[in-house]
Formats: sequence, C-alpha cells, structure tokens
Amino acid sequence: MKQWIKKMLAAGIALLLLVSPGFPASYGADGSAANSSSPTLIRVGLQYTQSALSRTVITAANELSLWNPSNGADFISLGGKTEIVVSMEAGTLKAADSSGTEIQVIAGGQMVTVTSLLREGFLLCSSDYSSRLADPAAGTLSLTRVDGVPYRGAIGFTINANNTFRLVNTLTIDEYAYGVINSEMGYSNPMEALKAQAVVVRSYALTNLGRHGTSGYDVCDSTHCQVYKGYNQENARSNQAVDETSMLGMYHNGKPATGYFYKNSGGYTQKAEDVWNAPVGYLKAVSDPYSPLYSWNAEFTLSELETKLRTAGYRTGALISVSVTGHNESGAVASLTFKGQEGTVTLTKEKIRSVLGMTQIKSTHFSLTSAQNQASKAWYVQGKIQTAQAATKIHVLGAGGTKAQLEIRDKYVIGSSGIQKLEGFTQEITGSTLRFEGKGYGHGVGMPQDSAIAMAKEGASFTEILKFYYKDIEIK
Ligand SMILES: [Zn+2]
Repeated sequence: MKQWIKKMLAAGIALLLLVSPGFPASYGADGSAANSSSPTLIRVGLQYTQSALSRTVITAANELSLWNPSNGADFISLGGKTEIVVSMEAGTLKAADSSGTEIQVIAGGQMVTVTSLLREGFLLCSSDYSSRLADPAAGTLSLTRVDGVPYRGAIGFTINANNTFRLVNTLTIDEYAYGVINSEMGYSNPMEALKAQAVVVRSYALTNLGRHGTSGYDVCDSTHCQVYKGYNQENARSNQAVDETSMLGMYHNGKPATGYFYKNSGGYTQKAEDVWNAPVGYLKAVSDPYSPLYSWNAEFTLSELETKLRTAGYRTGALISVSVTGHNESGAVASLTFKGQEGTVTLTKEKIRSVLGMTQIKSTHFSLTSAQNQASKAWYVQGKIQTAQAATKIHVLGAGGTKAQLEIRDKYVIGSSGIQKLEGFTQEITGSTLRFEGKGYGHGVGMPQDSAIAMAKEGASFTEILKFYYKDIEIK
C-alpha cells in the first residue's frame, strides 16, 4: 500500500484503495446505488468509435479537482489549476501542465503527482462538481472540458493495449440522461413523449451498468448502447423531461426493467423471444394502433445476397431462390430461407437483419417481390422461372392449351405424371433481383418512439405510454 494512503487511513480519513479503473463498491448487485441517498453514477466510454488517444487537454472554468468516485467526499484541490495535459508516456499515463512539467498536489499530507493519482483511478473534474453531487437540484452547472468539448461530471482514463488511452465520463444517471435524450428523441417532440423517453433511457442505463465492464466503463456513447454526446447535445426541454421524471425507473416483478426502444413498430411490436432468445415478462407483442406509417424498400441481386451470407460465414453457392418460411405472432418474418446450388441456409429472428444489413432491412415486417416486375410474383417451377400476376388466377399451359385456371394460393403444374400441386410455392421468390418491401424501423421490442410521440399528441401521459408498450411494469 502506498505510504500516503496509509497515512490517510491512519488519520481516520475513509479512502477505498481503488482497483483501477472500476469502482464496484458504489453499486448493489442489482445495479442500484448501494447508498440510496446519493445519486447512482454511470461510467460512459467516450468516443467509442475513435477510442485511441495519446494526448488530451482537460480544462475547467474555475479550477480542476481530483475525485475518487468510490468515496463521494474525497475531492482533492489542484490549487487553482484550470488545465491539465494528459498524455501517454512510455506506455503509461502522464499528467502535466502545458509545458510538460509534472503537476503535484498534497494528498494525505504528502506531496504526490497528479500522474500517480490518475493511475490509481482518480478522475479529473471541475472543482464545483462536489457541491452539485451533494445537491443535484442546487443549479450549479459543473462542466469539465475535453479538448474544449464540455461534459458534466468527471473524466477518467483507461489504458488500451496499443499505447493509447480511452476517456471515461463518470456522472449521475440523470446527468447522463440529459446528454442522451436529445440524441435519441428530438427536443421539439411533445413533453410527455420526452418524459417517457427519459424513463426509458434511465431504465436502460440502470440495467446495463457494467455492460462494458471489462473495458473499465458501464456503457459506450454509440448506438451500441445509447447515443451520448455530453453537454453540447442538451436542450432545455429535454432536460425538463429528465427533471420531471428524476430518478424514476421501470420495474417488473420488483426488478429493474430494461427500456428497449426503437423508431417505428410497423403496426405491431414484437415479443422479446421472437427477436432475440429468451422471453422477457414485460416485452410482449402489442398491436400498435398509434404507429404512423413508415415504409421502406431495399433491392438486392441474388449475387449480392450470396456475398452477404458468405461474409457472415454461410455457404450456399450460387443462390437459386429466397423464401419467407415463417411468420411470428406480430406478423413479421420469423425465418428466411436461401436455397443455393451448394446448400440451403435459413436465417431466423434478428439474424435476418444482422446478416443482410440493419439499415437496409429496417425491420422484419417485410414481404418479397421480384424487382423486375414489382406487381408480379416469380415462381420456380421444375427448373424454370415463370411469372404470374399476384391476386389473379394462374393459367397453366399444356400441349393442348389451357388445362387449369387456379386461384393464386394453390399452384399446380402438369408434369409427366399429370397435374401436381406445388408445395411451399407461394413464398418462393426468384429472379436476378429481389425487392424487400417493409414497414417499421428497428428491432420492434418495447417502445416505438414514433408511437410514443403520436400517443402524446393525443393527450396520453408518459406513464400511459410506457404501460401500453411495456406490460406489467411499475414506474417508481
Ligand atoms: Zn455499448
């Protein structure tokens, strides 16, 4: 143990020895704050897609402090310093002033370098953050800037393997929600929809603490978790939605419920097990009369689809046909089968979108047509492609002329052994280019934002919105 820590302990100052970079002592097993009187903290990995930094400048308007988040009272003054340059040197962190000189502070009655404290897991923050943590409603706007970009809360560092570091923003859940909501739902939307989004954002955060635990933070700042852009993304209306629902979360059977959300349901939300794996008590399929129409289409050649399958590790050889082979309770596509010259592959549930492209196949509420003639269906009949108009009758021609005139739902051909009904025929689409025509956008589980906005416009409260899309939940 370091000498100064021994001295602090000897002096009766409570200080937890940090195992950098985590601070699990702050949380209970269910992710709630162990001490209910202090706000729950969350660690956000910044610049998720550009995580390799070798130098950054941390500033605060008045004064920077060092903070040990394992002990909320443990703020160390930096003696009026407003700027610290953090860089990588010989594979480890260094904190210096702009001329490169190490900065020293008094901690536990002993002079130590800021570098050593950062390596112990201390964070840098504006000195007024201690008063804001003590009273979040006091109105103090505490901002710490990273290369000029302002964040609430404190900034810490985790070391990457390649001699770079990543920034971690530690702040309260409500402060985090300020920086998320406006990225996830525009501030100009109705207040009750924004409040529903605030509860959902907070619930998602509370049930995902530790999601990136092995990297030294809880959530990242990208769509992988929730888009977070710090103070620059805040707005007075979305902040109001956070304040008016402060600390409120969703619970199912007494446990925190994850607030899954997405843009548009396509008219029917999906139960969890129809999209991912296991059933979840509050994530059911809900017929959604509030959903505004959101339609999309995407076209792929068979060759493009084969490439996508191969990239994902599936071997089919040259594709012959693609078939919708199952629907789920919501009426969305549950399985899609690709028949190739060397094999057949069936994708199910969300795998359909993850393999074909989440932004192109915007939802699994889709049907297939031939792109060559959108009004026609293409049928695969004994090795040859024939087309027939949808919703009309099929005329099957034999040697003597028309032999049968049949409803489109039943297809027959005349083969060497007479008239034969074709099985699985109506769902099979071939042709060089396939067109996906769909509605809705997103995985379909939980609250569709478009519908939340529509409900709010009709006068629904945020609790009515949440309880319509999440079943058997408590909001408290
Ligand atoms: Zn993430």
